[in-house]
Amino acid sequence: MNNKTMMTENEDCVLTLTNVTKDYRQGKQNLEVLKGIDLNIRSGEVTALVGQSGSGKSTLLQIAGLLDRPSSGQICINGKDISKANDENRTGLRRDYIGFVYQYHNLLGDFNALENVMLPMLIAGQSTATAEERAAFLLNKLHLSHRLKHRPAEMSGGEQQRVAIARALANSPKLLLADEPTGNLDPNTAEDVFAALLGIIKETGLAALIATHNMELAARMSRQLRLQDGKLQDLNEPIFAKIAKNFY
Ligand code: ADP
Ligand code: MG
Repeated sequence: MNNKTMMTENEDCVLTLTNVTKDYRQGKQNLEVLKGIDLNIRSGEVTALVGQSGSGKSTLLQIAGLLDRPSSGQICINGKDISKANDENRTGLRRDYIGFVYQYHNLLGDFNALENVMLPMLIAGQSTATAEERAAFLLNKLHLSHRLKHRPAEMSGGEQQRVAIARALANSPKLLLADEPTGNLDPNTAEDVFAALLGIIKETGLAALIATHNMELAARMSRQLRLQDGKLQDLNEPIFAKIAKNFY
């Protein structure tokens, strides 16, 4: 492989984790949550992260989203090794490159939907006019143009979560991470929000890693990875296809 090919591959790579481990120390106890994770996420791919409660899905997403540091291993974002990046660089990357959707919306209660979506853009230095235009555009895409001036408490759970999705996309991230984004919603609302999320991901062509308990939702993504005993299994590989079949 020549240098040029390697460069192209790197640029393609939105997120790569190599041999990532995470231990939590509690007194004398050492809990090994991640025991050597290798993961490669590319643009246009929507990857499902499944696994039982407590298997480490949130831990993995927090590390991938630069909200926490691994105990060991490498993280490569946008083709650059950021394992040794300082806090300032990590914050900048998180703001410009990564969008995060949590299980609970985490919207600011004193601000309306439009303002909640504008905030990340204002923090990134956009003008108020540009931020407002893009926020309205994203909220419209998520079928919320009639809720722009509503505060979180004046919206339903599904609407709140769609605002949170719009906020995560505000700065046009290349990587979207979502931690059980429909986990707090009733099944019908979860379906609406999930469809809206998948639709906007496909339209923007970004890379996404979405943790979910729900194997039906997972099956609708490009590929499925399962976290078990601290390791990732690719459920699309023949050796795991049988296990995956039992889930559906
Ligand atoms: P999941 O999202 O798959 O339910 P988590 O990543 O939240 O799993 O948790 C994985 C394991 O790590 C659990 O056993 C949990 O109790 C433990 N854990 C998570 N965060 C911490 C922490 N900050 N300190 C100690 N243990 C933690
Ligand atoms: Mg979790």
